[in-house]
Amino acid sequence: LVTSPRIFSNYTARYACLRASPLVCPNQALAAELGVLYLHRDLEGKAVNALGYQRAISVLKAYPRVITLENFDTEVRHLPYIGEKIQSKVTYLQHTTSSHPEVEQIKEFIRFGVIEECQTIRASERFWSLKTLTSVHGIGATTARNLYSIGLRTLEDMERYYDVPVADDGTLKLEEEEVIYTPNGKRIPRQARLPDLSTKAALVLRNDLEASISREEVEEMHAVVMAELEELQPGCVSTIVGGYRRGKLQSNDVDIVFSHSDLRSGGNQVKGLCRKLVQRLYDRGLVTHVTHLSGFHARDAMRTSHWDSLEKALTIFILPSDGTQKRSHRRLDLIFAAPEAYWTGVVGWTGSKMFERDLRLWAKVEKGMKFDSSGITRRHDSKKFFPKSELEVFEFLGLEWIDPTLRNA
Ligand code: ATP
Ligand code: MN
Ligand code: MN
Repeated sequence: LVTSPRIFSNYTARYACLRASPLVCPNQALAAELGVLYLHRDLEGKAVNALGYQRAISVLKAYPRVITLENFDTEVRHLPYIGEKIQSKVTYLQHTTSSHPEVEQIKEFIRFGVIEECQTIRASERFWSLKTLTSVHGIGATTARNLYSIGLRTLEDMERYYDVPVADDGTLKLEEEEVIYTPNGKRIPRQARLPDLSTKAALVLRNDLEASISREEVEEMHAVVMAELEELQPGCVSTIVGGYRRGKLQSNDVDIVFSHSDLRSGGNQVKGLCRKLVQRLYDRGLVTHVTHLSGFHARDAMRTSHWDSLEKALTIFILPSDGTQKRSHRRLDLIFAAPEAYWTGVVGWTGSKMFERDLRLWAKVEKGMKFDSSGITRRHDSKKFFPKSELEVFEFLGLEWIDPTLRNA
């Protein structure tokens, strides 16, 4: 591997992958207040504006001091993306807009501890409804706006709209699986149809899926999954990635990257393993729903998003009850990488989303490389590179090492 000169992490950098971003920063309350503006723009479908706030928040998260009116004027307002006109393909339309919203809003926050527009947003019924409707897994902002426009406001409205069955004791119930028959009357075996998480099911499970997961339970889930995997294919390796790896005390889901320790086999032990593991977990009653399942097939790689082309399954998982505590359904993402793609997989799934976004941008713009979780490709000749450790991924891309707990951009 060719290594490029390293760039030292620096809070003034334009790329999030060059900044050290702790989980909790000295300006946490300001970041949260700007987060309301971000969420509002996002729920209203104003993607460019939302990204502008997201970037400004991300820059502030790396700023190492409490922001005051003094350092705001001398330093903070000159940081990248703070008060910059929001970039877009239609920049020429925005030449007339000379106000820098965040600059004024940040100053407002320093003076008063709140931002007036956030107060207005918080008092708006539409904002709360859209926020509530999107809290259901699988309901995005566009769907929520459509549901709002036909009169839905609350989760109870959604239950009626999606016709969620209510049991005699008033609780919602998961519908029995329908038995599926082929046209010639043959029953399709259970293993041929892993149930998708429908909006109906997501509504029934919403209290479970909304609750955050402790580090202890994340580790317990990981251990249970690894034990099942070891039975299927001995010698696999894994890393818990996502927010857990960045040090979050409470996670919204569990993300695990898997591979096999035998580098020489060309990934044969891993091929198809994702599907087999999900099937096994389903048969054991550990996985109850599957929201996405992709394979190595070219067809699937084309269809899956721009993110990567690894085998992955996004599932709903529940630990077996140990008799003493009630278990909750949890979201569990399983990602399988061929042995040579393990470290790019780990880097690509550790996040945060902004860190990943800028890592890809940095690789492309500054290094002429395409980074994704399945490897690094040199753009001019499509040559593939597979770093042999996480540090090598950083070195290869000319980046100073940033600990996972400082990737909370
Ligand atoms: P949370 O505690 O909310 O789960 P998180 O950072 O773990 O926080 P996730 O949505 O679980 O958030 O995503 C984990 C990381 O994996 C993200 O930072 C993102 O970079 C990456 N990621 C998420 N979805 C995909 C995907 N479909 N393809 C590739 N990478 C993804
Ligand atoms: Mn996660
Ligand atoms: Mn996830």
